Amino acid sequence: MIGERFGTHRVIDPPGALPQAAWRLDNDVRRVFDDEVVIDVETLNIDSASFRQMEERAAKEAGAGGDRPDVEQPALAGLSGTAAGVERLLLSTVGERGKQHNPVTGSGGMLVGRIARIGPAATCAREAGVTVGERVATLVSLTLTPLSIERVRAVHLDTHQIDVEGRAILFASGALARLPAGLDDRVALAALDVAGAAPQVARLTRPGAAVLVLGCGGKSGLLVAAAAKRAGAGVVVGVERSDGAAAPARRLGACTSVVVADAADALAVSRAAVAAAGREFDLAVSCVNVENAEMGAILATRDGGTVYFFSMATSFTRAALGAEGVSRDVAMLIGNGYCPGHAAATLALLDEEPVLREIFGERFGGKGGRRAG
Ligand code: NAP
Repeated sequence: MIGERFGTHRVIDPPGALPQAAWRLDNDVRRVFDDEVVIDVETLNIDSASFRQMEERAAKEAGAGGDRPDVEQPALAGLSGTAAGVERLLLSTVGERGKQHNPVTGSGGMLVGRIARIGPAATCAREAGVTVGERVATLVSLTLTPLSIERVRAVHLDTHQIDVEGRAILFASGALARLPAGLDDRVALAALDVAGAAPQVARLTRPGAAVLVLGCGGKSGLLVAAAAKRAGAGVVVGVERSDGAAAPARRLGACTSVVVADAADALAVSRAAVAAAGREFDLAVSCVNVENAEMGAILATRDGGTVYFFSMATSFTRAALGAEGVSRDVAMLIGNGYCPGHAAATLALLDEEPVLREIFGERFGGKGGRRAG
């Protein structure tokens, strides 16, 4: 049985919606369609804005009394209150929606697993050149990926990754990539989660440009700073809100300077960043995982410049009305998770930047990023 290329055959509610916009998907993997790929899921890489929201809510609930009678108890024994709360939120969202689509942030993430079945009409697998049994990362959001979870094996609060046993479905129009040989899987997963950012910033950076990166110490921030420098930016200023988070960006060396400021404090952050650059920015990139960072980026950007909102915590309304309110004539782009060749370009960047790879390796793989053996 052939489904619909974009996966609308899996949409339960509301009928006729595309899977990403749908509230609920059919995640029953006992019945599969000829144009679907079935993946045995190993690890979910939860989107940073989503994980932060779940973590904050879980910590609040744990603080309010871990054994509240109205809160379903976690299945995974031995987890800290926060990790157990994150597990509970994950299972509740997937149970209710058939996908990991955070109802508060609207964001998802992506996953790593092993291909269990490729339907005869599953063009995405053919295009990626992958076969049954291979380990792959999905390159489309968990917000449109039918997912069923049998068991949560571990919640990694430090890396926003969750090890699970479960199954996921990829539609014909989906995208996936074979895990690169020689790179730790968790490092690859972390980088591929934000694969759209660096190649698009490379396209947007003109030689000699002044580039601002809010959240320069995070996954996408580090990749973006490296990409801007390689594309010939004249000055790259990074912003982080603590010295600890700024340290990896300083170590990477892609930023001309790294300013410690709160990206949500629009006046303070824009003044500090412009002072560090010595001029207003041609391009500002928002890579933070918190709300209210729109105006700092807008105020720091020159008239005629571009603000690239990669952050999922960005509000269209705040950006549009905020720019209008200060009469700032900037082009504003929404960070598209996709551009042609984004996975290969991001992995190539990690390969070409040894310090970047080291930082990712230490943060996500527990070593220099290369897989032993
Ligand atoms: P990440 O690794 O968690 O990095 C976010 C960084 O922002 C962290 O270093 C964080 O510092 C910093 N930060 C947070 N609040 C700040 C503030 N007020 N001022 C300055 N810095 C601040 O996140 P990521 O995975 O790179 O993702 C970044 C954003 O991109 C998220 O919103 C995510 O949802 C989004 N995203 C978008 C797409 C897309 O397709 N557009 C795809 C994937 C992810 P601390 O660690 O100290 O908090």
